[in-house]
Amino acid sequence: RVAYVNGTYQPHGEASIHVEDRGFQFADGVYEVWSVFNGRMADFDGHMTRLHRSLNELRIDIPMSVESLTRVLKETIRRNRVKNGIVYLQVTRGTARRDHPFPSPDTPPSVIVTSRSVSTTRSEAQAAKGVAVVTQPDIRWGRCDIKTVGLLANVLAKQAARERGAYEAWMVDEMGLVTEGSSTNAWIVDKHGRLRTRDTQANILKGITRTAIMDLIASENIELDERPFSVDDAKEAREAFFTAAGAFVMPTISIDGVKIGDGKPGPITTKLRTLYLDRAKRDAV
Ligand code: PMP
Repeated sequence: RVAYVNGTYQPHGEASIHVEDRGFQFADGVYEVWSVFNGRMADFDGHMTRLHRSLNELRIDIPMSVESLTRVLKETIRRNRVKNGIVYLQVTRGTARRDHPFPSPDTPPSVIVTSRSVSTTRSEAQAAKGVAVVTQPDIRWGRCDIKTVGLLANVLAKQAARERGAYEAWMVDEMGLVTEGSSTNAWIVDKHGRLRTRDTQANILKGITRTAIMDLIASENIELDERPFSVDDAKEAREAFFTAAGAFVMPTISIDGVKIGDGKPGPITTKLRTLYLDRAKRDAV
């Protein structure tokens, strides 16, 4: 068997993409699957049209013409001698140093195609008898407490921030409450002077830096109100900042163009950053 990977057909067992491919690191890619009947693809145009729509929605460049792509799909089916089965195509935003925003526009998308046979006798037997179904809660993707590589929404949020001249995007739920940053946890010192960050029951990543800051807050006798805050709360806040490994405690001076406090890093923020960095350096192993 062979797989098509970025311009060449490789033995299936050895076919591989780079460790920093954005499909692997961020799920930043799209795919299609065609059924193959007698060596030919079913619903060809339907899948090809949806592929182009998906790429367009994610602003991933069309990697090659429909003609070239068709040739690759057919050649992969032919080389694998698939009569009845499937052909799979994946296009990702390519390989680039790991960073949420889109890589430079000259980064070529990655294209891979695989194809395999599927037993028709088995599916015919199942179809003859019928099959069972169970129900499951639809959690796509509601488990933001798990640090998964399913980061496409985070990537799109970060990219939107960068395009609006901002460093980070704070994501907002249906209630208008801030959940977290695209790769950070969000904090404010509200207009009453209360330090606030969202609780972690509610579907955010429990940041390690967030927890470390909480320990510092407790030992410094600073009060914390672990409760969601709204975008309006944040815009009226005295101070705002976000935390993550790498960013540590990063002061936020504006939100959607609205100046926070006097537009400079606030005193509590600055103190927490110093405390965090001192302790982190001291305790680093
Ligand atoms: N939220 C999200 C969505 C993140 O990706 C990250 C960083 N990995 C964080 C919060 C901050 O977590 P930590 O302090 O563990 O880096």
